[in-house]
Amino acid sequence: MLHHVTNSTQGFLTIRRLERNQRTLKLGDGKELYVAAVRTLELIMKTGLCIKLYDTLYIPEISRNLVSGPKLDMDGFYVSHGNGRLTISSNSQVFGTGLLDGGLYKLELDDDFSKSLLSYNINENSTKTKRKRDLETSSMLWHQRLGHISRDRLSRLVKDEVLPSLDFTDFGTCVKCLKGKMTTATKKGATRSSNLLEIIHTDISGPYTIAGITGHTSFITFIDDYSRYMYLYLIKDKSESLTTFKDYKIEVENQLDLKIKVVRSDRGGEYYGRHTDVGQASGPFYEFCKGQGIVNQYTMPGTPQQNGVAERRNRTLMNMVRSMLANSDLPSFLWTEALKTAVHILNRVPSKSVPKTPYDLWTGRKPSLRYMKVWGCLAEAKLYNPFLKKLDMKTVTCYFIGYPDHSKGYRFYCPTHVTRIVETKHAHFLEDSKVSGSSVNPDSDLQEVTTSSAADPDLD
Ligand SMILES: [Zn+2]
Repeated sequence: MLHHVTNSTQGFLTIRRLERNQRTLKLGDGKELYVAAVRTLELIMKTGLCIKLYDTLYIPEISRNLVSGPKLDMDGFYVSHGNGRLTISSNSQVFGTGLLDGGLYKLELDDDFSKSLLSYNINENSTKTKRKRDLETSSMLWHQRLGHISRDRLSRLVKDEVLPSLDFTDFGTCVKCLKGKMTTATKKGATRSSNLLEIIHTDISGPYTIAGITGHTSFITFIDDYSRYMYLYLIKDKSESLTTFKDYKIEVENQLDLKIKVVRSDRGGEYYGRHTDVGQASGPFYEFCKGQGIVNQYTMPGTPQQNGVAERRNRTLMNMVRSMLANSDLPSFLWTEALKTAVHILNRVPSKSVPKTPYDLWTGRKPSLRYMKVWGCLAEAKLYNPFLKKLDMKTVTCYFIGYPDHSKGYRFYCPTHVTRIVETKHAHFLEDSKVSGSSVNPDSDLQEVTTSSAADPDLD
């Protein structure tokens, strides 16, 4: 072997990053190892003298640190061995020695230097694994990964074995939740459907004072009554309610091989029609449903006790979004990304109204939550390079902002990258700072634009 190799980042004097074509080391058996960096390492020997190991390859996955004899020779040392002993010298001065041990010579290092390496390693490893283990079973971590859901819901997920058993001793008051103004209002006594697509609840929320990164200011949700499985569409104008409903209808009816029977909404103009001097004239949404044999059901305006499933769900979503934003250092225009993440989460956790998770009832499969991460946490992502047609070894520092719609992986916001939003499966997440950290975030101005006739926008 012509290189010194190490799996430790310790004791280095210099660090040099590598060109793309130098980043692998071929072993005798043809296996290739990833070289993270090249460094100069200093070893203090038992003799009290120091040997500099130039061009040491830092290979995180290699099992042991190796000093190369030929490389020492090339750098001007004289290396000799015999009688189970190795000697490294230069100009007749012995710099260091090693003893034969299991087919290799074990270098004799200065005691204090050796101890400092050892204790550093032990501390580094033990605190790392301990912290990691504690973190994985922290109820506060999962509270945050799941968009600030309640302690009760977390307990249910543990009982249903969706989550590992969690340590609830660290479950304290979450300041971000108070900021997000979580409400627990539930409505009792509503009739429930007995099959998928029997009743679909829908409501529009917005416009909000801040536009999302894609320019959308409002959103519309469609919630299946039986499963509580929810679809979200970002919109720029309330007039998009019909086109989004058509998209929703085609997709879900085809996927489930069932037909939507009833759509329940408020009597807003976007669903029912414009108000005229002789009452409300039926608009395109109403006419479309009629033509498809779908019954429209309405809650009457000005009757908050009739407030529908969709309105309450949309309020819950926005509370989650505010908690998530408050817990991050991200700009408020990413609220639409937080919103999509909140929908992704709510579809996969049990609610008060259904015994199973919406995902379970909708797809027939138990959801996994193990891949979920704390929204807004810092991450080091490896990106796919379209020019190399493979993953780029460079990592980009970015923020985790959600889960892609149709593939496994993660979405990231990279403020300094050419493409600001990227998706990849390969990333390292730095969640701990977000769990224990107490970063103070200015209150966001994300508010719904309200007018006196918000419940019934066409009525003046
Ligand atoms: Zn919280």
